[in-house]
Amino acid sequence: AKDPVRVLVTGAAGQIGYALVPMIARGAMLGPDQPVILHMLDIEPAAEALKGVKMELIDAAFPLLRDVVATTDAVEACKGVNIAVMVGGFPRKEGMERKDVMSKNVSIYKAQASALEKHAAPDCKVLVVANPANTNALIFKEFAPSIPEKNITCLTRLDHNRALGQISEKLNVHVSEVKNVIIWGNHSSTQYPDVNHATVKATNGGEKPVRELVANDNWLNTEFITTVQQRGAAIIKARKLSSALSAASAACDHIRDWVLGTPKGTWVSMGVYSDGSYGIQPGLIYSFPVTCEKGQWSIVQGLKIDEFSRAKMDATAKELVEEKSLAYSCLN
Ligand code: NDP
Repeated sequence: AKDPVRVLVTGAAGQIGYALVPMIARGAMLGPDQPVILHMLDIEPAAEALKGVKMELIDAAFPLLRDVVATTDAVEACKGVNIAVMVGGFPRKEGMERKDVMSKNVSIYKAQASALEKHAAPDCKVLVVANPANTNALIFKEFAPSIPEKNITCLTRLDHNRALGQISEKLNVHVSEVKNVIIWGNHSSTQYPDVNHATVKATNGGEKPVRELVANDNWLNTEFITTVQQRGAAIIKARKLSSALSAASAACDHIRDWVLGTPKGTWVSMGVYSDGSYGIQPGLIYSFPVTCEKGQWSIVQGLKIDEFSRAKMDATAKELVEEKSLAYSCLN
């Protein structure tokens, strides 16, 4: 039998955490034959709720779940973890300035980076979910210098999956037949959902470009983009709560593809440390199309970028540059 993998979830008593931990315990993140040990961290005010989540995990009698650590102590939570999913963060409350939220999250991510760097397994893979996700991941990278930068990522897979979902609905095809959309940039409303290279499986086994099938560039260049960008707000409006099950599911997809690999001919979107690909300045955590193999991601190279895309990719990069300088100003 395989050795269990230790998976840390921070903010585990929150609503994404509550949706995420049973998915991990069922094998949705690491596969149906991979035992796991869940490490759940939350803050003191959530300690009782966290105990309740642990009780429910025990009651669910998951065959793959070997043990549960539920704690408010970051050192205990980080010990020996192989995968860290960072969901805990300070929420933006009404009337709060952007700078105040940033400042809270900078101090959280700074502290958690130090704890993980000291106590996690040396090859630990990190996924930041809490917003502002790209910039939190960047702060994390700064304060965990011994964790390779390739191991620090943020979640844009939910946006990617939302884009697949919108195309599937529009064309009335199953979502599994749509592939290779791209989310460029920030996990925010400036993100650019790009369908220029996306395809749909054809009945003869080949692939057809989404642009050809939709045959409505106006919809693809306007409504499609804003629907994906504003899907989070639409869900808050409908549910009176932010998206949780889809965010949790996307976090599982992100880690699963990273660890187990992307299918041949398919890429996914991940927020990763820019190496300058596609003219995006190095030193930002930016969402790119990536393929994964043997636990390593690489940015898909050589895609043709038209003028429309270029402007949108640069606009979201510009927002990340501004967030970065705001975050650094909070460090002083
Ligand atoms: P959620 O579980 O709903 O969300 C957690 C984080 O994920 C938020 O920062 C949220 O950002 C972010 N997020 C990213 N993508 C999405 C998405 N697509 N949809 C929704 N959220 C997204 O928040 P809860 O308040 O229920 O839980 C947060 C937990 O974190 C609590 O258990 C709390 O105790 C803990 N916490 C930990 C802190 C710490 O570690 N020091 C500090 C504060 C809280 P946003 O909502 O801004 O979009």
